[in-house]
Amino acid sequence: MKKRILVTGGAGFLGSHLCRRLLNEGNEVICLDNFFTGDKANVLDLMDNPYFELIRHDVQEPILLEVDEIYNLACPASPPHYQYDPVATTRTSVLGAINMLDIARKCGAKILQASTSEVYGDPEIHPQPESYRGNVSTTGIRACYDEGKRCAETLFFDYQRQFGVEIKIVRIFNTYGPYMNPDDGRVVSNFIVQALKGEDITIYGDGKQTRSFQYVDDLIEGFIRLMNSEDGFAGPVNIGNPGEFTMIELAEKILELTGSKSQLIFKPLPEDDPMQRKPVIDLAKEKLGWEPTVYLEDGLKKTIAYFDELLKKG
Ligand code: NAD
Ligand code: UDP
Repeated sequence: MKKRILVTGGAGFLGSHLCRRLLNEGNEVICLDNFFTGDKANVLDLMDNPYFELIRHDVQEPILLEVDEIYNLACPASPPHYQYDPVATTRTSVLGAINMLDIARKCGAKILQASTSEVYGDPEIHPQPESYRGNVSTTGIRACYDEGKRCAETLFFDYQRQFGVEIKIVRIFNTYGPYMNPDDGRVVSNFIVQALKGEDITIYGDGKQTRSFQYVDDLIEGFIRLMNSEDGFAGPVNIGNPGEFTMIELAEKILELTGSKSQLIFKPLPEDDPMQRKPVIDLAKEKLGWEPTVYLEDGLKKTIAYFDELLKKG
């Protein structure tokens, strides 16, 4: 049966992939976005589809829509963007969660929250299982994002306990792919754009910090499996690729794949920048039968091809 599905933050990087996938599966999609970091260009190819609707709205404000499912992705994700207006970032996570949970409560919709590996902060346990409660600063420059996302998880569980809302929480580890904003400031898009333009590659700190990078298609598959999971499984569940790389390794891989002659330069490490990050994905394997399928090199090739074309268009 055709479902009507709301995707908040649907004009962003992940949201645009999700809208496309849900439409391809025969659903109706309402994409809601305030275009803070997203762009209509990301969903331009969907505008002619009669089952696609685009609404300009800020999730900090209430709205009522009749839907069967909600994917709540609205929130800037890149550190420079979420630190630009930190109060709005916390409001987006907290009020956005309340407003979307109220829709779910009123119309009996299932709701999935895009949470983050940032709930683990600068982790003292490596790799990170869902049971780890995290090492997050409440006062640093990343707190607006990390604590907002942590509070959103709390609200989701309280709406489940108090009002019986059917919830799903995914903790997303660093994800990359086509439709990332080239000015986004995140490491994969920064390095690829710098390499393609022949500009210096900006390594923050000594470049020995690690991240686990997942290709976007793997994540979207995890979203769908989680939303459709049965027996009341709510998560939180880590969805990420356990391959772990230093930022220097990432830069070298991108230089090799682009054939670029760009030089590595070192810049100060931003405050509270986590030193390591790698998911334990046993729960996703057990409950969702999910594991990543795309190797870093293959995902990077597709992402490089996307940015190459984008930069040529100007
Ligand atoms: P993105 O910045 O490309 O997308 C976020 C979208 O939300 C944008 O379209 C933006 O305009 C919209 N938005 C922001 N504030 C809004 C508001 N108040 N009202 C309505 N729309 C608003 O980032 P993304 O990488 O696509 O991230 C999507 C979600 O996934 C975010 O919630 C983010 O926290 C989460 N996440 C992403 C990653 C990742 O690696 N990409 C990792 C962990 C969590
Ligand atoms: N980073 C970097 N150069 C850049 C952008 C980011 O070295 O041009 C580093 C950043 O300091 C962090 C890692 O890359 O240690 C991942 O950064 P990103 O903003 O992509 O994600 P997050 O820190 O939220 O995991």
